[in-house]
Amino acid sequence: MRYDAVIVGAGHNGLAAAVRLAEKGWRVAVVEEKATPGGAVKTRELTLPGFRHDVAAMNLSMFAGSPFFQAHGQALLRNGLAFVPVEDCFASVFPDGTYLGVSKTLESTVARIASISPKDAEAWKAMVARFGADAPHIFAMLGAAMPSWGTATAMWKALRQRGVGWLYETLKLLVASPRDFLDAHFESDNVKAMMAIWGLHLDFAPDIAGGALFPYLESMANQAFGMVIGQGGADTIVKAMVGAIAEKGGELRLGARVAAIDVENGVAVGVTLASGEKLVAKHVIANVHPQLVFGGLVKDDARLRTYQAALKKFRAGPGAMMIHLALDDLPQWRASEALRRFAYVHIAPDLEMMARVYAQAAAGMLPAEPALVVGQPTAIDPSRAPDGKHVLWVQVRVLPAAICGDAAGKIAGRNWDEAKEAYADRVLDLIEAHAPGLRSRILGRAVFSPLDLERENPNLIGGDSLSGSHHLDQNFFLRPVPGWSRYATPIRNLYLCGASTWPGGGTGAGSGFLLAKALAG
Ligand SMILES: Cc1cc2nc3c(=O)[nH]c(=O)nc-3n(C[C@H](O)[C@H](O)[C@H](O)COP(=O)(O)OP(=O)(O)OC[C@H]3O[C@@H](n4cnc5c(N)ncnc54)[C@H](O)[C@@H]3O)c2cc1C
Repeated sequence: MRYDAVIVGAGHNGLAAAVRLAEKGWRVAVVEEKATPGGAVKTRELTLPGFRHDVAAMNLSMFAGSPFFQAHGQALLRNGLAFVPVEDCFASVFPDGTYLGVSKTLESTVARIASISPKDAEAWKAMVARFGADAPHIFAMLGAAMPSWGTATAMWKALRQRGVGWLYETLKLLVASPRDFLDAHFESDNVKAMMAIWGLHLDFAPDIAGGALFPYLESMANQAFGMVIGQGGADTIVKAMVGAIAEKGGELRLGARVAAIDVENGVAVGVTLASGEKLVAKHVIANVHPQLVFGGLVKDDARLRTYQAALKKFRAGPGAMMIHLALDDLPQWRASEALRRFAYVHIAPDLEMMARVYAQAAAGMLPAEPALVVGQPTAIDPSRAPDGKHVLWVQVRVLPAAICGDAAGKIAGRNWDEAKEAYADRVLDLIEAHAPGLRSRILGRAVFSPLDLERENPNLIGGDSLSGSHHLDQNFFLRPVPGWSRYATPIRNLYLCGASTWPGGGTGAGSGFLLAKALAG
């Protein structure tokens, strides 16, 4: 049998491409090496029976707001997709025992900001108002292939409706560092810290050019639309996409590693599985990190040298670590009882600390004071744990892939298998300082070092949660490499999608959807 498309990797972009292509009548097969689909979007009982943990991604706002969901939402809802909306989205805690947080109700956020800076409360309201007018234009640009008529049209429309001044401001936003952008708008260090941490969710320390956009978008989008997580787990999107593919006759093969992409005369013709079985296809779509595709899956060929050389320079972002806890009760946050309702509590109190963490990780050092995202999914969706119990989802941002030393001079391990439990203890000590008694509530714990994350999903090279740094020189029309940002490769009928391609990491399903639209309309 000859497939119209074989998709290598059941990450959410590969699945989104398959949903679209199957919907358009293509005969598709998705081939995944792991026993479970989803890549970085999986939910499992990692600690104790009945405690369901999102192994990696937890926040599904990008998926819920995506053009893919707009186009295929009905099929997904029919196949069981369910979101849970979040009212109290994200907060930061500070060493003086206070906190600042963004809730979907504007008045709540504004009141919190006004209590430390009335001027910043006004600036926040002005930014929210501006975002309402910005959002359609910015999301139209970010939701189009790069470069494309779609981007050009979106820019032209924005120019006509909002004027040249708006375009200049938006360009400044695109290239500014978080610190420069935040200094220009706010006076309170706590407001700036609360927003700047979103830069570290990608790999933007406060002083890196291009890092302002994500703190702006995340802060404003959470304010305007709230956040969503999956009912029962983030894997709700994966199960729904798998169902939608099956509904249209598509196949999903699990536990089937693709060992080679077969190429004849410069044209992809199918794949060979590790078992030796061959699947013949008119198109091959790799939801796989391009360095793995062109560093192993595709046979070496002199005609690929220039492209391969460019790909070799595609840099990973820093590593991440996940700590999953089964808890008797949610943390009792020192700053306020109200924090128990928030989806994310960030522990990264100021820009200097964020800059230090980044510099230490870049130098191969275990940061002395880690930057944390503490997710409380069961505060929003109690179905993920037995009655009255909870799970905690702790993401440690910005860690070295290879360990040269410990900035605190205490951890001796020089590889992640040796160092991970000790580092997890450092993380828990830090949370304990803000939420005394946490340790006594722990019923079970599972730690994924950057190396474990890569073992879980080979696309996360060095534990880089986003499959490639998003710094300006490898983002937008430069992702993954200049000249090849529209998913094609030098091999005809072989295409890339996934976080390493535009529009990058996150659960927005952008690259899979844009590629499938380009192929099948
Ligand atoms: C710890 C962590 C937390 C995150 N949190 C969030 C969050 O809260 N919100 C958010 O929006 N984003 C989050 N992200 C980012 C987001 O989850 C990822 O960017 C996104 O899911 C990547 O999707 P993808 O389509 O690129 O495929 P991937 O998820 O990378 O999946 C690729 C799949 O391909 C398979 N594969 C690779 N090689 C082969 C082969 N040779 N043969 C067969 N199969 C193969 C892999 O096993 C994998 O299943 C997080 C990421 C991590 C790691």
